[in-house]
Amino acid sequence: MNAEDVLRRFTQLGALLDGHFRLSSGLHSPGYLQCALVLQHPRHAQALGAQLGARGAGLAPEVVLSPALGGVVIGHEVARALGVRALFAEREAAALTLRRGFRLSPGERVVVVEDVITTGGSTKETIDVARAAGAVVVAATAIIDRSGGRAALDVPLHALAELTLPTYQPAQCPLCQQGLVLTKPGSRPVAPGTTPA
Ligand SMILES: [Zn+2]
Repeated sequence: MNAEDVLRRFTQLGALLDGHFRLSSGLHSPGYLQCALVLQHPRHAQALGAQLGARGAGLAPEVVLSPALGGVVIGHEVARALGVRALFAEREAAALTLRRGFRLSPGERVVVVEDVITTGGSTKETIDVARAAGAVVVAATAIIDRSGGRAALDVPLHALAELTLPTYQPAQCPLCQQGLVLTKPGSRPVAPGTTPA
């Protein structure tokens, strides 16, 4: 499964849309990415997890750590592929924290797993959670890196695909200037009968 296969799968499942979108940030974009629409299918989640697991296996990770909520499903599937535990960190008073009795041991080898890396911010926070517990982060992985190289992590980053989706202030949006209809993501259903390979 190369990067094109991954992006094709996203497009076929309606998780990567072309058009003219108003994002939750208020910015406009010609593209919209929603990983959950792929990961809702366990078969696809498992296949992507196996790919990410294969990339990280050589680093001998002992546990997966993901930021909730976006990283939970794919983190679980990567952990399944690696045969290790799947932990997640979640927000408590704005800070990512290990809860629910999750523990990392000093020196334990952690791979951080995300669905999408946008700025790298939540990935860095998750790395910090692991390090605060004394664990060693051996790599970060994501299905899609849309940071455009801005993530600037201090561990190796492996993504199955890279994607650049520009965003525009509404007043400067070239799509508005072309008069294209603005869509709010989520209001357009996947075409019926879509059966990705
Ligand atoms: Zn626009």
